[in-house]
Amino acid sequence: MTFSAPITLLYLLAAVLFIWGLHQLSSPRHARMGNLLAAAGMVIAFAATVPGLHHSVLNLVLMVVAILIGAPLGAVAARAVRMTAMPQMVATFNGVGGGAAALISVVEFLRAPSTVAIPIVLSIPVVFAVVIGATSFAGSGVAYAKLQELMRGTPIIYRGQQPVNAAVAAAIVVLGVLLVVTGVGVLALWALLVLSLLLGVAFVLPIGGADMPVVISMLNAFTGLAVAGDGFVLGNPVLIVGGTLVGASGTFLTKMMSDAMGRSIGNLLFGAFGTVLVTEQSAAGGAGRSVRSGTADDIGTLLAYSQKVIFVPGYGLAVAQAQHAVRDLAELLEKRGVEVDYAIHPVAGRMPGHMNVLLAEANVPYEQLKEMDEINDAFRSTDVALVVGANDVVNPAARNSPGSPIYGMPILNVDQAKNIVFLKRSMRPGFAGIDNELLYDPKTIMLFGDAKDSLTSLVAAVKAA
Ligand code: NDP
Repeated sequence: MTFSAPITLLYLLAAVLFIWGLHQLSSPRHARMGNLLAAAGMVIAFAATVPGLHHSVLNLVLMVVAILIGAPLGAVAARAVRMTAMPQMVATFNGVGGGAAALISVVEFLRAPSTVAIPIVLSIPVVFAVVIGATSFAGSGVAYAKLQELMRGTPIIYRGQQPVNAAVAAAIVVLGVLLVVTGVGVLALWALLVLSLLLGVAFVLPIGGADMPVVISMLNAFTGLAVAGDGFVLGNPVLIVGGTLVGASGTFLTKMMSDAMGRSIGNLLFGAFGTVLVTEQSAAGGAGRSVRSGTADDIGTLLAYSQKVIFVPGYGLAVAQAQHAVRDLAELLEKRGVEVDYAIHPVAGRMPGHMNVLLAEANVPYEQLKEMDEINDAFRSTDVALVVGANDVVNPAARNSPGSPIYGMPILNVDQAKNIVFLKRSMRPGFAGIDNELLYDPKTIMLFGDAKDSLTSLVAAVKAA
């Protein structure tokens, strides 16, 4: 398809805005602007597409109806979703994107007369978009169901699983090659779609909830590539650019997440995928071992007379929505002359950048958020490491226990601080389901309770100290 010069220029402008927006997302300072730029690019891309529909009023009406339904749904969902449920929302949006990409290619294939072979330059992207888009759609659906606890989060493994999956994959390859070479075969296309949906489900079932955010990131990259495939089918440059950007950034994100978890992508995909090892002791929360628990007053006094305190936020901070309370305590300590920093582990929480987003929402100064490599040496000279709802990301088993599911994952050196305070509700383990020796360390004091309540009590205690 060829476009007039103004439309081509608008598509170019949209593509530039996508790339610029993506670049702005690399820093929390500019992330909001990055989103706005990319959204502006999307509006321009839409505006440039409309004139091409002049020959079909029905298409235009359908498009407007779809926008009138989809846009409010998306806006309300994005506003209403809790930060802890963000991975599910990403899975949903990503899944429907993949499904749409697959259907667009199906429709384009069906538009050609069934007896006329479509050229290979079209059949390749059609097959690509149908397979990848449908796999992403079905896989994202299972990922959503696992994260939302609509189905069991642990790996679902059954007899003959691998041969069945291999047979489905082989059938997809055979049908795909057949379609590409012959350029005809409506039935084969529908079969390809159904088998790809099946593969998406089969691919994600054996993966545990623990690895689901990584899977979602990978499926997100798949969706981008499927959309780029549609761009080739429709001859639409902005779809090619936008889809490729999502594909490339999703691939990088997947790699960065697996690196931060100390695992290779291969191990994540085909290893003991997401297996959560809950030992008897960890399930019981280390029953029988003694821990030192303190009162808010004791810990408030300790904090008030410290020179340096490092806050270590984790998933519990998000659950308790304690980001404002944590900032209040930090500001109070700073007023007393205490040096305060936040140590941010790359996989703290349940999605990349989870802690940065929460703390930015509470207006914590960005300079105080220190990446793991930047702050790890500072724990040695820190009076108190205040761990707010984090567990796995400070668990020394990652360093000391070969065989532990988190062995090899880089951790924050909280164990090197002079005093360690844990704010959590119980002795239950974190996401990996394993016990944390640090909770029993003589230097550790536990303050049991919801993180927000504990922080509020600590603010009062520091004021009184
Ligand atoms: P963890 O899941 O290890 O620990 C969270 C802790 O928060 C729990 O021990 C829990 O203890 C506590 N907690 C929960 N609710 C509250 C509350 N209301 N108040 C106080 N404490 C609470 O979290 P981390 O952030 O340390 O580690 C993240 C884990 O998630 C890692 O294993 C990582 O690999 C995994 N992961 C992260 C991804 C990412 O992109 N960020 C992606 C995939 C996996 P208790 O119940 O006793 O209160």
